[in-house]
Amino acid sequence: MEDRTTTSRGNRIVKKTWQTKLIHSDAAAPEGYRSLVTPVYRGSTTIFPSVEAVSDEWDQYRVGYTYGLYGTPTTLELAARICELENGKRTIVVPGGQAAIALISLALLNAGNHMLMPTSAYSPNRKLAKVLLSRFGVETTYYTPDTGAAIGELMRPNTRLVWVESPGSITMEVQDVPAIAEAAHARGALVALDNTWAAGVLFDAFAHGVDVTMQALTKYAGGHSDLLLGTVTVRDESLYEKLGLAHQVLGYNASPDDCSLALRGLQTMGVRLEAIERSALEIARWLADRPEVERVLHPALPSCPGHELWKRDFTGASGVFSIVFKPGPTQRQVFAFVDALELFEVGYSWAGVTSLAVAYTIRGYEHRIVRLSIGLESTADLIADLDRALRSLSS
Ligand SMILES: *Cc1c(COP(=O)(O)O)cnc(C)c1O
Repeated sequence: MEDRTTTSRGNRIVKKTWQTKLIHSDAAAPEGYRSLVTPVYRGSTTIFPSVEAVSDEWDQYRVGYTYGLYGTPTTLELAARICELENGKRTIVVPGGQAAIALISLALLNAGNHMLMPTSAYSPNRKLAKVLLSRFGVETTYYTPDTGAAIGELMRPNTRLVWVESPGSITMEVQDVPAIAEAAHARGALVALDNTWAAGVLFDAFAHGVDVTMQALTKYAGGHSDLLLGTVTVRDESLYEKLGLAHQVLGYNASPDDCSLALRGLQTMGVRLEAIERSALEIARWLADRPEVERVLHPALPSCPGHELWKRDFTGASGVFSIVFKPGPTQRQVFAFVDALELFEVGYSWAGVTSLAVAYTIRGYEHRIVRLSIGLESTADLIADLDRALRSLSS
């Protein structure tokens, strides 16, 4: 029997050795399988119908698929879903949250520009400004996160980007994003938001004046501590052009396998967030009543800076917050408290099913601040764990 098939461009291959069949097969599975799950499309090469059609354009919405780096159907399905959730114009998926931060600053800033960054920003964001953007002629000024409309006074003629992160990493200050956005726009600057804490869903960034958002899907979208991914979402087409081009030349690839995990994570993010919000609030309130605790920095509690703004602008809370101990315990005693926890593990990258605790030293709070990420263990067991460990503070 003669083997006969056609190539993707319609040319006939008449005779094939088994070695060639390994590559160009006539075999095919039946068509019509309709899974509820987005398939994992892996691929660097995507084949063109003709040599004339070959293109290296990055915008797959405009030109169709040209190269795996710019997105496979799995990657772009995830991007479209995040974009829909964030009410943006377009979303770009990148290999992690920090990659998303870097993409935004690298795409939107030029040599000679000035940028504003809250002192409460995620520390690798601040480090990027310090160790890399400064070398490319970008100057950064830090502002306290309680700055609202007064941000206008910190702006210079060359200020192009204002970062906001609400609530801030570790110290949890909620920012007046609409006031900052209005002042920034009045002076021609763009506003970028790290929306990771709100999982992109508990704060409607674009309705509050933000131009570009990022979030670490590593956190609540992934939700199981088994992937690293990030997204950048933009409010309009001109920002998409800038970010998309920078994404192409920086060569950030997001693995379709990781995107598939994030797509699965999104399906359960609603119930996880709800359970985590409830549990975290109960634990935060319990801690607020403890004699060892000076202050609980949870946006839904009045003791958190910016709590009124959280009430005004957010539709819920996630599960990360910090506690500040009353003066007294030494750093060793605070470490002993964290180490005495049995259910809370010690580690970075929160928002998984396992509760986490990390102690920090931060000006204003010194060594008395501990950040908790509440997972899906029983709330009563977590409270009992904290209760037991609190005894290490005074011993
Ligand atoms: C974790 C985190 C990031 C970075 O995400 P990675 O995926 O770990 O790179 C950025 N911003 C905030 C607020 C985070 O908590």
